Amino acid sequence: MEIIVYDTETAECEFFGRQYKRDSPLRRDNHAVQNINQTLDSLVRNMHEILVESGGVGLAAPQVGVNLTLFLARIGDEVTTFINPVITHRYGRQKNWEGCLSLPQIAVEVQRAKRIIIEWYDIEGKFHSRKFSNENAMILQHEYDHLQGRLIIDNYPQRTTATIKDTV
Ligand SMILES: [Zn+2]
Repeated sequence: MEIIVYDTETAECEFFGRQYKRDSPLRRDNHAVQNINQTLDSLVRNMHEILVESGGVGLAAPQVGVNLTLFLARIGDEVTTFINPVITHRYGRQKNWEGCLSLPQIAVEVQRAKRIIIEWYDIEGKFHSRKFSNENAMILQHEYDHLQGRLIIDNYPQRTTATIKDTV
C-alpha cells in the first residue's frame, strides 16, 4: 500500500476552458464503511504506518486507493481515525497554506472555516461529535474534502493560482 500521487499534468486536462478530470482513486465516489471488521482494522493500521512514516498530518482512504469514507488525522500528539465523518457545522474563516501528500511540492492558500463540528465513528464503532478549531479544523476539512473527491487545487477557479513553493 502506498500513497497515490495525483499527477496534475496527466490527471487533468483543460479543453475549451472546461476541466476534464481523468480517472483517479482521488476523484472517485467514496462509499460509507458498512462493517468494522478485521479488513478495516488492517487498513487503518497500514494507513497509520504510512501517515507516521510520511510525517503528514492526515491521510484519507482514497489516497491509498481505497474508496471508503474514512481518514486518519493527527490531532495534537495522537492520530485519530474518523470513520464515516460528517461535518455538521462550520463557523468563521481562516486562510492557510496547505500541502497534500498526494500533491507533493504543491502548496495552495486555502480558505476554510475556523471552527467546525464533526461527527464520526471510531474504530470500535463508537459515535463521537466534537468541535475543533484553527489548525485541527483545517486538517479535518482538508481530509473531509478528500472524501468528496476534492483536492486543494480545486479551491480556486483557476489552477494557475496553485503555487509551487520551494521546499528544502
Ligand atoms: Zn490531502
